[in-house]
Amino acid sequence: MKQNLIFDLDDTLSYCNKYFELVINKFIDQMLVYFKDYALTREEIRKKQLEIDLASIDQNGLTSHRFPDSFVQTYKHYCTSLGRGTVSAEMDFLCELGESVFKIKVEPLPSMYETLQQLVKEGHELYLYTGGDEENQCRKINQLELSTFFHHNIFISIHKDTKALKHVLDTIQADPKNTWMIGNSLRTDIKPALELGINAVHIPAALEWEYNIVDIDIEPTGAFLTIDSLEKLPGAIREYISTTRKEYNGAGITREFVTNAVAEEAKGF
Ligand SMILES: [Mg+2]
Repeated sequence: MKQNLIFDLDDTLSYCNKYFELVINKFIDQMLVYFKDYALTREEIRKKQLEIDLASIDQNGLTSHRFPDSFVQTYKHYCTSLGRGTVSAEMDFLCELGESVFKIKVEPLPSMYETLQQLVKEGHELYLYTGGDEENQCRKINQLELSTFFHHNIFISIHKDTKALKHVLDTIQADPKNTWMIGNSLRTDIKPALELGINAVHIPAALEWEYNIVDIDIEPTGAFLTIDSLEKLPGAIREYISTTRKEYNGAGITREFVTNAVAEEAKGF
């Protein structure tokens, strides 16, 4: 049966966190040079940058400019608290360093093209729903040539939460029973999907951003699967549909059991 599959982009279809991690490490290296005469540690700088970045997301959403700005704000914070003067050339350098993350050519996760091709072949409708500003997300979508699979079914949102996902669901007018959210983020993909009663597939990223990690204590209406790689997705969806169909036919197994069994199998147990 045709399913509506809504995909996250960053760290679900293509790499993202590793580029940020690379640039954050360069930022910390540079800060340690600027503050070499002060007792400032890598961990302190990392913690402060994350704190400033997360506060900015809470206030303004997933805009691109907040990231280079978090470098400059972290620098200013330590200049003030340690009594060191600011140097505009240093702030310019850090801002450019932050912006460099948006110039790295994006790479697909292993088997991304094959998996999307397989899902199209199986007759599913694919949607892309990604958080960030339009310019940066479009850059990645174009580099990866994703319109081949998603056509006009592409949603880009600065805020990626339950309200934003509801807007997507209202727009596509899909039956929740046959609609799935697939993503790496418990916060922005899985929690909103479960709150809105659609199916969810969590594919944890190898390297996860602290922002994306939250506790999930919502009873799923449909499927809530966890798989360890994108290429297991077509099989996990097929398996869930065929097992729940048996359930509807009166096979006498509970939904909870089905959900867990499929998740375990998809994990390779
Ligand atoms: Mg993501």
